[in-house]
Amino acid sequence: EILDLPIHDAVLGRAQEYGDRPALVDGVTGQEITYAQLDGMSRRIAAGFAEMGIKHGDTIALYSPNTIIYPAVFYGATRAGATVTTVNALYNASELNKQLIDSKARLLVTISLFLPVATAAIEGTAVEEILVCDTAEGYRPVMELLASTAPEPVVNIDPANDVAVLPYSSGTTGAAKGVMLTHRNIATNISQAEPTIAVGENERIIAILPFFHIYGLTVLMNLPLRLGATVVVLPKFDLQQFLTVLDQQKITRAFVAPPIVLALAKHPAVDGVDLSALKYVTCAAAPLDGDLAEACAKRLGLHAVLQAYGMTELSPGTHAVPQDAIDPPAGAVGKLFPSTEMRLVGADGEDVPESETGEIWIRGPQVMKGYLGRPADTDATIDPDGWLHTGDIGRVDDLGYLYVVDRLKELIKYHGYQVPPAELEAVLLTDDRIADAAVIGVQADGNEVPKAFVVPMPGAELTEDDVMAYVAERVAPYKKIRQVEFIDAVPKAASGKILRRELRAREAARE
Ligand code: ATP
Ligand code: MG
Repeated sequence: EILDLPIHDAVLGRAQEYGDRPALVDGVTGQEITYAQLDGMSRRIAAGFAEMGIKHGDTIALYSPNTIIYPAVFYGATRAGATVTTVNALYNASELNKQLIDSKARLLVTISLFLPVATAAIEGTAVEEILVCDTAEGYRPVMELLASTAPEPVVNIDPANDVAVLPYSSGTTGAAKGVMLTHRNIATNISQAEPTIAVGENERIIAILPFFHIYGLTVLMNLPLRLGATVVVLPKFDLQQFLTVLDQQKITRAFVAPPIVLALAKHPAVDGVDLSALKYVTCAAAPLDGDLAEACAKRLGLHAVLQAYGMTELSPGTHAVPQDAIDPPAGAVGKLFPSTEMRLVGADGEDVPESETGEIWIRGPQVMKGYLGRPADTDATIDPDGWLHTGDIGRVDDLGYLYVVDRLKELIKYHGYQVPPAELEAVLLTDDRIADAAVIGVQADGNEVPKAFVVPMPGAELTEDDVMAYVAERVAPYKKIRQVEFIDAVPKAASGKILRRELRAREAARE
């Protein structure tokens, strides 16, 4: 199961065989790149980077929304022996500046729209030049590298040790950390996912989640391109555009995060869209409730919404619901990938008894090399026996399916009981009067209590008491919502995660 190959060879090894088949399609303009073109482009871009002085072990920052050029730049950089540090396209100049300094990137590849942020951010960094994927006066276009007459660089990549990609963790719980993923890590993770996420050659995948996040990079980009499918690229999430592209481009498979499942299950715009080509929807990145998953599947005429689980530090996958599972339990995040070990560990450091909850520990070839420049953080995350402590709480049922309860750090401690906010959010979303919701623990009379932030459905009549009563009828008394606030929108990261820390900061500012 270990794929000891440079990532570009793991993904593009069959590109010439796939030849004229479309590898990438721009979902907005319809522009296409074939497999043969993608392969050739990545080789010319590698030559161009080498000509610019990029050497084995250097770092190139890629700060761009999803475009059809993105994969060519990525594989061009790895072919030149570089590490690609993928940057969140929503970052501002100071966030980008931090990542550029931390990663020691020598080049920054971006799009013209992002130049104001990019130019401000390179101040005081090792970046020597900014290149653009489109065109902008005074900046070298990446496309110019395609004309390079230099020979393709000969680089001797060591897949087990060379860092192919340096994504930064989402920063949901703290500072974003540079996660060193080797060629072996990410190449192997594709092959581990393949049996459960069996993308066919004739499939059309919608790339709606960002390539800069490891979920998008591995599952929306590397995996389908290795298997000869067509990736239809969208730069950002807009529900109406997403639905139109699903319909018109005859998309067969969508990889999404919970906010999109929520929209697909509840939004009126979904009615009247022809989704008959759509066969599989996979959801990962944050907790998704089983009832919501079922409601979405039912509305789309699918047998299930298939969940998957992972984290940046795990390249990212460890579990997925097999796409051919007959009747997968709706709340489960999946079954363990091959050549991966899992333990569920209690606070005492011992494995918990069967069917009880514990912290998820993972060991396998997809475990990161470490956090860049943070040996203490690395040691706190990967123990001496090679187990990565995920910080997530889970349990396994008798069929072998994993359920993720919530993050250990997010659990609300109410009078000695532990309340998972994700469970309360799921209950809230079953209320037709509620469009979206988030829950955090807040201090009240020396206690931590669950507080709900609720976005009401347009036109819905809903009071704070209604919200508390609705939840109280459905959960154990100790889990009851004890405070409610109505808000316009739940703050979420680009990867689809609820940013509970922003809500906590809002609370703290008020005290
Ligand atoms: P940071 O580590 O910087 O705080 P982050 O943990 O949000 O950010 P990611 O690596 O993008 O960064 O996210 C991994 C986390 O996402 C997991 O640890 C888990 O908490 C959550 N997650 C991923 N998939 C699922 C899933 N299917 N169900 C529930 N939670 C999930
Ligand atoms: Mg994390």
